[in-house]
Order: sequence, then C-alpha cells, then structure tokens
Amino acid sequence: MARTEQTGKRIGRNVLLVCDRLHEASSPGRAARALQEDLTAHELSPVIALSTAAAHEAIEADPHLQALLLDWDLHQDPSHTQAREVLDALRARNAKLPVFLLATREAAPHVPAEVMREADGFIWLLEDSMEFVSTRILEAVRRYRLALLPPMFGALAKFADEAEYSWHTPGHTGGSAFLRSPAGRMFHDYFGEKLLRADLSISVAALGSLLDHTGPIGDAERYAAYVFGAQRSYFVTNGTSTANRVVFTASVARGETVLADRNAHKSIEHGLALTGARPAYLLPYRNHLGMIGPIPPASLTREAIAHNLASSRLTAGQDARPALAIVTNSTYDGLCYNAARVEELLSPSVDRILFDEAWFGHARFNPLYENHYAMRGDPAGRDPAGPTIFATQSTHKLLAALSQASMVHLREGRVPIEAVRFNESLMMHASTSPNYAIIASTDISSAMMDGAGGQLLTSEAIAEAVAFRQTVARLQAGFLEKGDWFFGVWQPDFVRDGALRIPFADAPPQLLASSQACWALEPGADWHGFAGLEPGYCLLDPIKVTLTTPGMGRDGKLEAQGIPAPLLAHYLAEHGITPEKTAHFSILFLFSIGVTKGKWGSLVSALLDFKRDYDANTPLTRALPALCAAHPAAYGALGLKELGQAMFKAMGETGYPEKLQEAYNALPLPEMIPAEAHDRLIRGEGGMAGLAALAGGVAATAIVPYPPGIPLLMPGETFGTLDGPVLRYLAAVERFDRQFPGFGHDTHGVEPAEGGYRALRY
Ligand SMILES: *Cc1c(COP(=O)(O)O)cnc(C)c1O
Repeated sequence: MARTEQTGKRIGRNVLLVCDRLHEASSPGRAARALQEDLTAHELSPVIALSTAAAHEAIEADPHLQALLLDWDLHQDPSHTQAREVLDALRARNAKLPVFLLATREAAPHVPAEVMREADGFIWLLEDSMEFVSTRILEAVRRYRLALLPPMFGALAKFADEAEYSWHTPGHTGGSAFLRSPAGRMFHDYFGEKLLRADLSISVAALGSLLDHTGPIGDAERYAAYVFGAQRSYFVTNGTSTANRVVFTASVARGETVLADRNAHKSIEHGLALTGARPAYLLPYRNHLGMIGPIPPASLTREAIAHNLASSRLTAGQDARPALAIVTNSTYDGLCYNAARVEELLSPSVDRILFDEAWFGHARFNPLYENHYAMRGDPAGRDPAGPTIFATQSTHKLLAALSQASMVHLREGRVPIEAVRFNESLMMHASTSPNYAIIASTDISSAMMDGAGGQLLTSEAIAEAVAFRQTVARLQAGFLEKGDWFFGVWQPDFVRDGALRIPFADAPPQLLASSQACWALEPGADWHGFAGLEPGYCLLDPIKVTLTTPGMGRDGKLEAQGIPAPLLAHYLAEHGITPEKTAHFSILFLFSIGVTKGKWGSLVSALLDFKRDYDANTPLTRALPALCAAHPAAYGALGLKELGQAMFKAMGETGYPEKLQEAYNALPLPEMIPAEAHDRLIRGEGGMAGLAALAGGVAATAIVPYPPGIPLLMPGETFGTLDGPVLRYLAAVERFDRQFPGFGHDTHGVEPAEGGYRALRY
C-alpha cells in the first residue's frame, strides 16, 4: 500500500507535498527538503507523498489539506501526465484548495493554459528563497480558509472567538454559568467551551436575524438558495415538522381544501388541524412487502382530482380550487417521483405544491436524481405560468447538520407568495431564540454541498450502497443455488447495460452508480409490485437500502417458511447495529453521506452470523440474551429458529400483515375535518375504549402503525364495524403482540393496556 509520511499532527495545517525526489541527493531533492523544513518552521505540517499513488491516497483520505505542493516533474514524466492526474483528482474533490507547482523556470512556458488556470502559482525550487515561499503558501491558506467559511458560520466563529463579555441571553453567558456548579461543570467539560461560547442569541446584532433574514444569517439563507436551487430559502431550526406547518399556514386559509398525500408525516396532520382545512387524500399504492409506493399518475389528473373532491364527504360541494397539494418525495423507503411530471399533472388543479423532501436534501447534487426533485435547475428559469413550488428538507436527515436543521425552499409560479406574507407564517412557528449552532450547521451543509463537494459526497454514499447491494445479492444467489436461504435486497433483479440485460449482482458498479435507468420502477416489473405506473415516473433512491427476509411472496401471500424481520432486527440490535426501520419482512438501512468506506462489511458479517445462529437454532439465551433476560418465561427455553418459526406461524394465523394491507387499500369514511376532531379533544369529549367499543366510533387522534408510519385513520375518521378492515387489523396485531412480548407493534394512537388495546374515540 502506498504511504504518506507526516511530520506533525496539527489539524488544519496539513500541506500535501508531492515530490518523488525528496530523498535524493540532487539539487532539486535538497531544495525540496529545505522547503519541507521551512514549512514546518512556519507551523505548517507537510504531508509527504513520494509517489503518484500516495498522492491520490492522501487527497482522498484527508479533507483537512490546506494546500497542494505538486512536483511538475513527478516521476520525471516528460508528458507530466502523472502530475496532471494528481491535479485532476484534487480538483474533482476541491475546486478551491491552493495549488503550487514545483518547477524550474525553464519549464514554465510549457505548462499548458488549463493547468495554469488550476494552479495558484509556481515555486521555483532552485531559485526562490524558502522563507518567501512559505509566506506565500501561508497567505494562500489563510485566504482559502476564509473562502471556505459560509456566511453565518464564518461570522459566528469570529464573533464567539472575539467577544469578551456578554450581558445578554442565553443566561449561561458563553458557558460561564455552568462553571458555578459541579453538575454544570461536567456539562461544560463534556460539550466544550466552543459550543457554549457560540450559543448566542438574537441580541447579537452582528449576526443578523433568522426572523428578518438580515445580516450573516440572511446571507446564509441566500447562499443556501443558490446552492439548493431555490428562488428563496428559509432556515427552520425546529425540523421539517415545523417547516411543513409553516408552508401550511402560509398557503391555506381557514376551511380551504387541501390535496394531501395519504403517505404524509404527522406534521401534515397538524397543518390540517391548524388551518381547519378540508382534506381530500391522494392514496399511494402499497406492495407485497407493505412498502408505500408512489401516488399513481392516474389519480393526479384534472379529472381524477375533480372526481376525488366531488366524492369525498369533506370536500363535496366545495367548488373552490384546492389551496395546496402535498406530495411526499422521496418516501421513507426511498421512492422519488419525477417531480416535473407531478407538477405537470397537478398544475391544472392547484396553484401551490409542497414536496415534502425531508429525506431528499441530497438529490440536487447528483445527476442520478435528475428531474426527480422539486428545486430543479436555475430558479430564474422558473415557470411563471406553473404552480408555486415548495420543498421542505430535513437537512439533518441525510446531509450533515445538527438535529432539527431544516429548510424551506420555494420557487414562485403564477400565484406569487410575497416574502412579507410568507414571513408572518414563519414567525408564527419559529422560536424567538433559535439555536445558533443549528443555524451554523445548516449553513455549513450549504458549503459542503456547493461546487464539487455535493457530487463527490453523494457519489461516495451511492457507491457504498451499490457495493453493499451487490454483495448481498451475490451472497443470496450463491446460497439459493445450493438450495439454501439468505437475505435479499429490494431492488431490480436485472438492469440494462446497453442492449444487454444483466443480473443486478453482475452489473458494473459504475453503471449502477451513474445510470438513472437502473433504478427506475419500470411499469409491470414484479420486483417492486406497484401497479399503475408510467415509464420514468418513479425512481428508487439507491442510498435507501431495504433488506428483505424470506417469507413474503411477490403475490403478497406468505410463503411456506419465513423469518419475520423483527427477529433479525432484535438480533442486529443486540450486536450493536441499529437500522432505520423494520417492517414485517424488510429492514431499511440508510447510506447517508456520513457513511464510512466499508462500514457495511460489519453489517454483512452480522447477517452471516444471524444465518449461522438461525440454522443452528442457537439457544436464545446466547443469540438474544437481552430479550431472554427481559422475558425469561416466554423465551428462555427456545432457540433462534424455533422463535422465528413460531413468529412466522403466528403471522399466518393472525394474518395481520394481510389485514394491514386491506385496511390501507381503502380510505375510511370521514365524519369531520381534523380541526374539529382536535377541537373536541380540547373540550374533553369522548373517551378511551377497547377495540370492541371502538366500533361505530370516530377516531379522536390519528391511528398510525409504525412502520410504515402512514395513518390508518386520521382524526375525525370512523373506525367502522368490528369486522371492518381497521378493527380487524388492530385485533390481529393485538393477538400477535400478546403472544410475543418484546416484539410489540408500535401503533401511534393505540395504547396497550392490561385488558387489551385501547384508543380515544368520540
Ligand atoms: C422526518 C420527516 C418530517 C419531519 O422532519 P423533522 O426534521 O424530523 O422535524 C417531515 N416529513 C417527512 C416525510 C419525514 O420523514
């Protein structure tokens, strides 16, 4: 393996010196060594690469590099190809890093113009005084560091480092209040002085205001708009939960009609309750695995929406246009719409569309997602005749930002939304004391995704996901060939490489990482199982990886044998692996831009461990010790396979996966709008009731099974009869949960009580 030598460990001072002559006795060798010494004397840490390979490795591994000093005669290559490759590799990752070429003055006229453009200057090894060279490098590093800092983080760091005394909130005044008590001191030491000194408030005029969009904070929002392709962007420090409510109250007046994706986050329900809106729902498909697919295009046409509005009890007879349509893009499982097509379909029916892109902040930065996200292209090129488009993104979910960091992006269409009007809603939901570390982290995420960084970081996450997907697919193929079993991945069985149709596992990784067609949900393909699609309508985001366990057929029927995914999830949890979510026969893993190279290797080992323990029916006392300790009577005498088989059998007997499917397939009857249901909640109406007594009642709160996390009932909708789909499902899952303590299903709005499940009804 190629190696780099490092002298010194000062982070943020690393300067990569690429020179294969460094240890030579020649005069260039001596000059390069003098340069190395002088850099060290100037508090820079030269990282030495003696070969092209070592240079590539250092560029890839060290995001802290502050400059590149590159020997133009690397490996004495007269064509300078080696040096140019190093330069290109650097520029693919970093457009701004200062670069100096080590050369002789005679070589200078022959350096091609495109190389000159990429370099910041020359170091004439045999002529320049090293003192002079180091000073120039230091100055370039200083300028580079300033240019790196996005507006708000730059101003914050400067202020927090320079300000001496604070007489304003927060009352801990830069952390000093914590130092006055032993517990406070521990807190201070744990999080460190910097975070606390940077915890400032709106009283610091120099940083501007999140509520007025002034100063460095306003600049940061404008920078984000540029990077994320919006006409305007707003930071929200209370998550996309709040961002969605902001869009709601900015768009929907009391009692107006709204077209809502049934696959919507809780915050959409809250938006409905806040505005008193009359919802008509857009019902997405579900597949055999219980995954929520896209809303079919046929239900987005003008005619379908007119029919939907006319036939729903809450919206019939209201002849006004809907004020807002909400589409979740991408879904939790990683399905993303062709947003251009969705806009085109919805445009005749509605003037404002909210794409809830809580999981999709990365889309704009990789060509793989072209056309499948809301803020496409140049905001100046927006369609003034089209609908106004909002996108809300949880910057913290798949980019790098602190929890609760979120943004609202918007692009105005034919019905403008003036900044002053929008801002009233923003302020209605925002705190007057936003957390400045969250704002700074949102700002940093713009800087990270700007320029080459965005594509690089997203490409690396995609490449890791592809590697994991292919590895599992190969392992599965190998086991199946021997008549054995293994886990699968929810992805196309075959992809096209030119005219060839090849198994996913054998496709060139580069093709999978770059071709949108490989991830398209082609109409009729049975791996995804969603009906009613058109070509190019929907895409699977490769970084959302759904691992499948055996047991569920593509026809939606249980197979003869199977392993419920919650069993695997428990096993992984006891081995320190926490997935994103677990369904009946599938587990979702996220490959965010934070994924480290090869991290998935330990996941593959854990899967193989599970298989070994399962096949050997390893006693649960060893395979799942924590579960056994919590419920010794239920599990103490069983093995892993026995438990899996018992769970699978109970799934078939109770039939709860199928019953959930049935319950989701039809919309329940609404009795009142969500806002009225909420009003009654406040007035203390209704009461908790067991399943039998829920029949005929109206849900006071939403009933939401996790996963998939989409409402079975919205507040104000009816439970139906005891043998209707909703109560049949709840009864089945109640039976299963009683039989398998520790594996209980999480259903929001349903309380497990002594006598059985209960919910609040009117
Ligand atoms: C997580 C999520 C939200 C809420 O985002 P937070 O940043 O957690 O508040 C909104 N919509 C969808 C679809 C989500 O998955």
